Amino acid sequence: MDYAIRIVEIAEAMHRAEKITVFTGAGLSALSGIPTYRDSGGLWKTHDPNTLSTKAAFKKDPRKVWDFAQTRRRLIKNSKPNISHQILADWSHRYPHMTLITQNIDDLHHRVGTHNVLRLHGSVWNVACSLPCEDSPRRWRDERVEFSKWPPRCHYCGALLRPGGIWFGERLPLSSAFQSLKATQCDVFLSIGTSAEVHPAAKLIGEAKSAGALIVEINPNITPASALVSHQLQAKAEHVLAEIEAQLQSQHKLE
Ligand code: NAD
Ligand code: ZN
Repeated sequence: MDYAIRIVEIAEAMHRAEKITVFTGAGLSALSGIPTYRDSGGLWKTHDPNTLSTKAAFKKDPRKVWDFAQTRRRLIKNSKPNISHQILADWSHRYPHMTLITQNIDDLHHRVGTHNVLRLHGSVWNVACSLPCEDSPRRWRDERVEFSKWPPRCHYCGALLRPGGIWFGERLPLSSAFQSLKATQCDVFLSIGTSAEVHPAAKLIGEAKSAGALIVEINPNITPASALVSHQLQAKAEHVLAEIEAQLQSQHKLE
């Protein structure tokens, strides 16, 4: 099917939908200057996840894990949400039954005031006690990009602090995982800027398909989920979302 016809069909389906679910990944923030992990130029091409984002890696070399985390914290602090974040935030206000599930840890959806966001992998600003000690909360926010001690220490007990995002091999936050699964019961499911390779998050696409949703994938590259989808738009999120939004505006004369 022709690209322009797909855009029209997606806009019509969104207009009719009772429930819309959007699932985002690192590609959405690429325009904001935050590198993705898995495509060409992605971070995993030059770094090994097993030495940077696992419990075992932290045990072996906490300084290395923190150096990597801190470089990302600095980069994210200096980055700004882009047009894709803005359009999705506008939709979250316009469509009251929209849920946005993100794998991103950069908080950029929150920074533009998006409603109803579920974070599957936590936030880059979360930290936790590595023990964990009895006095500390399970995770808390600490937005410092400079610490007096390196690697930083838990101020409750003095043990090492750990970055508080979800590492490979760790369980997803129960409440977000449960609500995300619930949100796969929808009419339109848009999977945007994700390689669909990180599980269990990527399983949500298959769940939405089983629930009968119209599945749309927006990604310049093919992914393992591409075979499942009703519409694969092989282009950058910032272009496709602007085109869908223009179509919604022209079809329905939105305010
Ligand atoms: P990924 O790196 O595995 O895949 C990124 C995908 O985005 C690729 O398929 C790529 O083709 C696509 N892409 C690149 N530019 C795009 C654009 N302009 N528009 C649309 N798509 C584009 O990322 P993932 O699937 O999100 O899984 C990665 C894991 O890495 C997640 O757990 C997440 O926590 C973490 N991560 C987060 C960030 C962030 O918060 N910004 C950045 C990198 C990785
Ligand atoms: Zn502690």
